[in-house]
Parts: sequence; structure tokens; C-alpha cells
Amino acid sequence: MHRVFSGIQPSGELHIGNYLGAVRNWVALQADHDCIFSIVDLHAITQSYDPKELAPRTFEMAVGLLAAGIDPDRAALFVQSHVPEHTELAWALGSVTPLGELERMTQFKDKSAREETVPAGLLNYPILQAADILLYQADRVPVGEDQLQHLELAREIARRWNARFGTELFPEPQPLLSKARRIVGLDGKAKMSKSLGNTVGILDPPEVIWEKLRPAMTDPARKTRRDPGTPELCNIYALHQLLSKPAEIEHVAVQCRTAGWGCLECKRLLADNMIAALAPIRERAEDLKAHPGRVHEALAAGAAKCRGIAAETMAKVRDIMGFAPAAPAGAGSHRGGRAQDG
Ligand code: ATP
Ligand code: MG
Repeated sequence: MHRVFSGIQPSGELHIGNYLGAVRNWVALQADHDCIFSIVDLHAITQSYDPKELAPRTFEMAVGLLAAGIDPDRAALFVQSHVPEHTELAWALGSVTPLGELERMTQFKDKSAREETVPAGLLNYPILQAADILLYQADRVPVGEDQLQHLELAREIARRWNARFGTELFPEPQPLLSKARRIVGLDGKAKMSKSLGNTVGILDPPEVIWEKLRPAMTDPARKTRRDPGTPELCNIYALHQLLSKPAEIEHVAVQCRTAGWGCLECKRLLADNMIAALAPIRERAEDLKAHPGRVHEALAAGAAKCRGIAAETMAKVRDIMGFAPAAPAGAGSHRGGRAQDG
């Protein structure tokens, strides 16, 4: 059975880009894969953040993922910082990662342009990501298109480490893309991103979904109600294709091309379909928020399982890389005692 690993940062609200691009795929994969999913808080600290918000955001992300359908009986869900081996393996993999590869990563270039001072953590982000996957020897990674470049680097890091130390310990992880590989944000320009504020949250109440969709960017050719548009150039149409029924998608396209509908009517139908699709997730999330113990229990069980696997992998990594084994607990105390006596 293939082992699947994927992660999501608690860097903001779980949005429909994350959901349609990655998390919906995670839910489907649980049925017939050995799945490990992580809330990657160690990644989230590479961008500006408020320490007071990190723990509540981590909890909210867990609520969102469980409500979206991650089932703790079938998949391990855990918080990255609860398994310290992630950082240890990242350090080890840093020894075979070329600096030039890190510097050419698109995410690094985009995100560092937004920071006044560029933290080294942002540069090293893909090494930690490679460690996340390789720690569990996962060979399948369901992600959105934006992570393909990092995954390619993770494969190179695995190859280089295996070659450097003459082993086959790490498999080369392959991406799994969904149909919605890149959801564009409500600005109609950049990809939908937690850190860009161009999102619709999967737990947003109906009125908030409508408030966000109403001013969203459409085909710029539709300056007035009477100007026809090209659905393929409109982000709202792209979302219809993922959330509306085939007959509705067809109808929307005709109404756009003939200026039969204004953009607001098109958005209203999308909002209704989005609200209906997200309603059961929102309901489950309300229930989980009322029973936070269930969330903590799921995270604790996930971390316990992952700590076991991570410890085994790291023991092999330390051995293969030639580190001196630590003396067993208690060794040395006798000698220390004598030294004091004498
Ligand atoms: P941030 O802006 O903080 O990087 P993000 O919205 O990009 O947040 P991540 O936690 O970095 O979210 O990514 C979680 C998963 O969601 C990844 O698999 C990523 O590929 C996927 N993903 C993120 N944004 C999109 C999008 N707009 N379309 C499709 N998939 C996406
Ligand atoms: Mg991201």
C-alpha cells in the first residue's frame, strides 16, 4: 500500500483553494492508502505571524480538516511540532541540499519579496518539507500545483542523500494532483492563498461567502451589464466548473457570452452552490468546536503514531550518517559518582 503524506500550514483560514486543490483529495485517499496528514506549524513560522494566534489557528485548522472529512480512525492527523524529528531530519537533509536550488524556488521568491528582512527559514522551507515526507518514507503526496516545484526538489534531496550515503532508504515521492490544481483568488490574479487575503474560507457563514463573492474579479471585458464576456477568462466561471451542476455550467457560459446575465446573477448562483456544498462541513465544524476534546484526542493519537515511525526512521538516519550512538540512559552516572568521591 502506498504511504501518503501531506501538510497544511496554520497560517490562516482553511480556504476553498486548499479544500478543492488538496484536502478533498486527502479525504478520498484515506479509503485505500496509509495516510498521514500534518498541520505544519513549523512551516507557518517562516512568515510573519503573531505567537498568540498560532495555537488557536492550529486548533481551527484541525477542526476544519476533521470537518472536511479527515477521519482519525483511517488517517493520522497531527501537529508537526509535536514530532521533533521533523526538524532533526531537516537539518540532516540540509547537508546535501544545494543552495542554488533553494534560491530558485518560486515560493521563496514570491514570499521573500513580501518580507522586509528575509528569514533563512523561508529559504530552508523546502528542506523541512522534504523532511516531512521522507521521515515517513511516503511515496505519494497530494498537493496543489504550487507545490510541484518543492516536490521535485524533495525528490532530488532524496536521491542525493541516498547516493551520498550509499542507501535506498528514501523513496522518491510523487505528487498527486486533483482536477482543481490551481484555484485563483478572488482578486482574479494570484493563486488563492491564506497569506494574501483573497480567499473564501470553507467555514465562512453564507452571508460572508456572498460578501466576498460579490466584489470578486470577473472577466475584465464585462465593463457594463451589456458587454458580453468570455467564460474561460473568468475566475467565477472556473469556480462554477468545480461547484455547479453540468447544466448550470452550460447555462452560465451562454449567459456570459450573450450578456444575458450580469456578473452578479452568475455570482449569486455560484454563492448558492458553494454555500450548499460547504453547509455539511460547517455543521460538523460547529459540533467539533462544541466538543474540543475530540479534536485534541485525534491530534494526540496522530502524534503518537507518527512519533513511533519518526523515531525509527531517525535511528536509521543517524546510523547511516555515522553519528556516534548515545550511551544508554544511566551510563556514566557511576563514574561521575566516583569522580566526586575522589
Ligand atoms: P500560505 O499563503 O500561507 O502559503 P496557502 O493557502 O498557500 O497558505 P498552504 O498551507 O501553503 O496554503 O498549502 C496547503 C495545500 O493547499 C498545499 O497542498 C497547496 O498546494 C494547496 N493549495 C494552496 N493554495 C492553493 C490553490 N490556490 N489552489 C490549489 N491548491 C492550493
Ligand atoms: Mg502556500
